[in-house]
Amino acid sequence: MSASVGIDLGTTFSAVAYVDPKTRLPKIIPNREGRNLTPSVIQFLNGEEIFGGEAEDAFNAGEENCVATFKREMGEEKPFCCIDGKPYSSEELSAKLLRRLKEDAEAALGEPIKDAVITVPAYFYSKQREATLRAAQTAGLKVKKLIDEPNAAAMTYGLNCWRENANILVYDLGGGTFDVTLVHMGKDGELATVATRGNHTLGGRDWDARLQEILIERFEEETGLDLREDREARFMLGGMAEEVKKELSAPNMESVKVVAKFPEYGKATISATRAEFEERTVDLLSRTGALCLAVLEEAGLAKEDVADVLLVGGSTRMPQVKAYLEKLFGKPPLSRVNPDEAVALGAAIQASKENESYVSLSVAVVDGKKTTDRSGIQLTSASKAVKAEKNLGNVGLLSLRETTAHAMGVVAVDKDNDRYYNEIVIPANHPRPVRAAKKFRFFPSPNGDNELAIYVLQGDDESPLNCQITSKYVASGIRYAKENAALGVVIRVQYSYDENGIVRVQARQDDSNVDLPIRKESLPSDLSAFGRPVSAAQNAKGAKGSIAIQGVGAQSLAHKYKAVTFSNVKWQKYDAVASHPSGAMFGEPSVHVVAEDKRIEFHGYNVSEMDEGVQYEIEPDDSFVIECDVDTSTIQPHPGGSLNISLGLIEAQLTENGGSFLISGKRVAQVGSRFHLRMSLSEGGKYEVAVDGKVVGEEFKASKRNVVVRFGFVHEDHYCKLLSHAYVSDISMSHAAASDGEESSEAETWDD
Ligand code: AMP
Repeated sequence: MSASVGIDLGTTFSAVAYVDPKTRLPKIIPNREGRNLTPSVIQFLNGEEIFGGEAEDAFNAGEENCVATFKREMGEEKPFCCIDGKPYSSEELSAKLLRRLKEDAEAALGEPIKDAVITVPAYFYSKQREATLRAAQTAGLKVKKLIDEPNAAAMTYGLNCWRENANILVYDLGGGTFDVTLVHMGKDGELATVATRGNHTLGGRDWDARLQEILIERFEEETGLDLREDREARFMLGGMAEEVKKELSAPNMESVKVVAKFPEYGKATISATRAEFEERTVDLLSRTGALCLAVLEEAGLAKEDVADVLLVGGSTRMPQVKAYLEKLFGKPPLSRVNPDEAVALGAAIQASKENESYVSLSVAVVDGKKTTDRSGIQLTSASKAVKAEKNLGNVGLLSLRETTAHAMGVVAVDKDNDRYYNEIVIPANHPRPVRAAKKFRFFPSPNGDNELAIYVLQGDDESPLNCQITSKYVASGIRYAKENAALGVVIRVQYSYDENGIVRVQARQDDSNVDLPIRKESLPSDLSAFGRPVSAAQNAKGAKGSIAIQGVGAQSLAHKYKAVTFSNVKWQKYDAVASHPSGAMFGEPSVHVVAEDKRIEFHGYNVSEMDEGVQYEIEPDDSFVIECDVDTSTIQPHPGGSLNISLGLIEAQLTENGGSFLISGKRVAQVGSRFHLRMSLSEGGKYEVAVDGKVVGEEFKASKRNVVVRFGFVHEDHYCKLLSHAYVSDISMSHAAASDGEESSEAETWDD
């Protein structure tokens, strides 16, 4: 027999739990001291590593060679501490603690641990999650999944108190981190994370620091002595402040007196009141409140739509936290789970489940703005009745769908080629695991190795320097294509945000279905260049370590290009035509389509049939709206050049003066050279065309399969010498969520 366990690897305490096979309920596994919680403290003594109560006592007594709160620096490369001349990273210390937790749990259960679900703060970045995974592997643990702490707590809560249709805000204030997560309880047991925010340097320790200041001031008032610069005194004050904080948090405790005694400073009796403690820390609470409101805004909900606020984390024991949240939400928050154990219990529930498979990115475009499509999660506004609370009985029904905590982007060069910006590949708060790819233009050099630097960003901000620059990858082996020298090549970059919140990067060239070789490199120490204009060196074609370029830099190139980002868009190439059937030869570049985010331009020469443009094949469940401003006045010269727009059912062949729209061969509208076109296909197969705001035709098509949207050229009988700059702009397309189940975790699976 072997067990699957859940481990809460906490900043201050850790805990291990499992699901009892008889009751199908989660249970804490006590450590070798018989305690449910193991302090996250290690003491190094005479070559031995000491854990548990003994290590905690030694740490509190200020003994040397003790380490605590190392989780705060998880993922940092620099050592967390140096003991007996040996440096230890947070990851190494966590591995030691995890090994101890594993040994204790195996001894208590009397069986080996098969695998484990380990919890991390929701706001942990990819590199902190990777470090957690490596620490677990070093400890000999097979990790089934990492899950976010608030989600684990919500599962524990949901087990006993399921409320169908309820939006629950999980407020998790621990010793070193703060996370706020909105979860939705759907049908029995179906729990989904909707949005999450947090600050991984805000926690109980910040409250301790404020209390420390109060104690220092009091000591100074009593003795005239200033302790601020004394390291040893400050260390002692740290422990004292936490004790005073806990005492002040007890019911009806308005003030606390302590005898403070410091070597070389003597002693004094000092006191702190709850009122002044609360006053000095009110800004910290406001910071948590602002993040709560940000989460609601992200979810599109009002405060009234929150059915309950659930308190998790040791610091929520401070009475001011409850009072603040009651004022903010107009109802008292719930303290219905044990804040110290709920996370481990939830991890144990998850450990008893199978892992999720990948979904495709699902993005809706509303009013031209891309947002995460949450059509899968029916959020409940206050008006929809939240069903009465019930006990699910056992873990069987519970399932969890987690989301991405951060947007993931790549450092790219903007279309004017003068600025670096964050091109988001996966938005924040999207169900995970998820994978998505974007296209970037790159200019290889004819000689030399062509390499592309991909800087991975976590965060929403447009400026790379306001995001976390988490890692650097270098894709190599990019092929130079002489015939495409002017336009460069397209590199598709794919991010896979896995079930653990860890991001994997892949790259492919043009239509290849083989990944480019990719290696991870350490980040340069100085990244400030991303805040400055793009340098000429970085712009040079094929420069080693170039950044994905989306605009074309060199003056001689007339066209700016950015790959269109609608899902399933397929570019039709027109490379083959160098001469026309008439025998005319053309030294010009072949026809191409130039697309920017909201604007598609058609540039061309020598076109003989419609086989170039944007083509989009509609899936049966799709719906879309395409809106564009069309200007055909620059089609030149005439006669002969024309722009064709086709949408399966609609046809238009336009010259520089405009032309007619036909539906099923029937003319429905006459347009001049400039007009606004709106085409939509909605559920049920209703297809509607509007020109300049007026509906000119509608049809129903029972099956949407094989309807093809196409913008491109047509020129059948004549050739034209120069056909350029007919363009459509302001295209917005809302595309329904891609179907589930088509994805696998295979490396070959690409989403673009
Ligand atoms: P956690 O990371 O969830 O284990 O929370 C640890 C934090 O909770 C530390 O900052 C503790 O000081 C704080 N904490 C624990 N118990 C209390 C209490 N009774 N009152 C106030 N803070 C507490």
